[in-house]
Amino acid sequence: MRFASSLSRLRPLLDLVFPPRCIHCGRLGDYLCETCREEAQSVGSDICIRCGNPLTTRGICHRCRQDPPDPIRAIRGVFFYNGPIAQSIRGLKYHGLRGLAPILADYLIAYIQAHPIPIDALVPVPLHPERLAQRGFNQSELLAACIALTLNIPLRVNLLRRIRPTLPQAQLNRKQRLQNVAGAFAPHDGVSLHGETILIIDDVATTGATLRACARPLRAMGAGDIWALTVARANMNVALDAPTSPSSPAEAFLLWDANRKQLIPDPTESLI
Ligand SMILES: [Zn+2]
Ligand SMILES: [Zn+2]
Repeated sequence: MRFASSLSRLRPLLDLVFPPRCIHCGRLGDYLCETCREEAQSVGSDICIRCGNPLTTRGICHRCRQDPPDPIRAIRGVFFYNGPIAQSIRGLKYHGLRGLAPILADYLIAYIQAHPIPIDALVPVPLHPERLAQRGFNQSELLAACIALTLNIPLRVNLLRRIRPTLPQAQLNRKQRLQNVAGAFAPHDGVSLHGETILIIDDVATTGATLRACARPLRAMGAGDIWALTVARANMNVALDAPTSPSSPAEAFLLWDANRKQLIPDPTESLI
């Protein structure tokens, strides 16, 4: 929180000395120019109301009927993980372009304002201490800090800790991803919750496995409703997913194809 506020105070000076360039097209003036912002592809409202994956119509996807993202009530991603949004997230995480954090956070803020739920606390997905030392900052915490400042919601970075490093999710299929992050997060000693509504914040979600692994200890600590919001939804392969069981051979093929694509390693979750 302190970092985000000092960053925003220093920004005019920094911009004067080092004028920012658009991460996507290179144009001088901002970290993400207006033209490239318009290219960002929203996930929209035809989604699974539980996991937030795109569907042909709004409903509950076949996967959530078997394995809903409990204890999370709903996961939402604002954009698809592609184009300028993917580049912005990579720029923030891997090139230390922290000026992108308030820009990306603004989209999360707008989403929360457009879909208001009572939120008692924001919880960013923690990084393992080794990763934090390498990167120097936790991008999810920067995003959450910007939201906390603007919407005046408490930021709780003291609830969870990442107790073991995890493998890059990219090499893993869905089941392995769940196993990889299971038990990776634990509560800080002596901290408990009393039915508070929590919104977990992260930059990207693919299967939601990391978010669920965060939510479990939060629920065990006494959290009430738990929601999750990310800037981007990495998995476009489920765009052909249908909200109900296949009703025709063609639809069955589309479902099969969507599932098959999900098993192909997805490079994006290594970013988490
Ligand atoms: Zn641009
Ligand atoms: Zn779903």
